[in-house]
This record gives sequence, C-alpha cells and structure tokens, in this order.
Amino acid sequence: MIVELEKTYRGVLCPRCGARSAAPARALQVAQETYTPQTFLVRCAQCEGEGRFSMADVRAFSGEPQKRVRRSRAKISPPR
Ligand SMILES: [Zn+2]
Repeated sequence: MIVELEKTYRGVLCPRCGARSAAPARALQVAQETYTPQTFLVRCAQCEGEGRFSMADVRAFSGEPQKRVRRSRAKISPPR
C-alpha cells in the first residue's frame, strides 16, 4: 500500500498561460463511474480564460490547486 504524503490533485494546464487549474471533481467522478470520455470547461484561476478539456488533458499535480482570485473583491496592495 502506498501512502501519499505529498498532496496531489488532478488538474489541467491552461492553454493560454500554462497555469494549473483543478479539474472539476464531478467530471472526474462521472468519467470514473461511466467510463465515458468527458469534456468539461475549466476557468483558469490565473488569466480567467475558459477552456474545454478532456480526460486526456487531466494530469496529477503535486501541491494544492490555485485558488481563484475574485478581482472585484480581492484586496491586494501593490508591491512597492
Ligand atoms: Zn490561464
């Protein structure tokens, strides 16, 4: 039995900026249960570009998925 100490998640790479985004858990679950190829839309957390992905695009990343930044609410002080 393999114990995973490192956190991993399944996600996709944004075709525009190359940022990692977590794949929707529901799409992964449906694909696993039905063995049918799923396509799903993922909005990039970095550039907010939306892309359509298939299960073939899903890969395992180490770490935790990037949190989506809501620009309208986020209070980020610019570096000086
Ligand atoms: Zn992007």
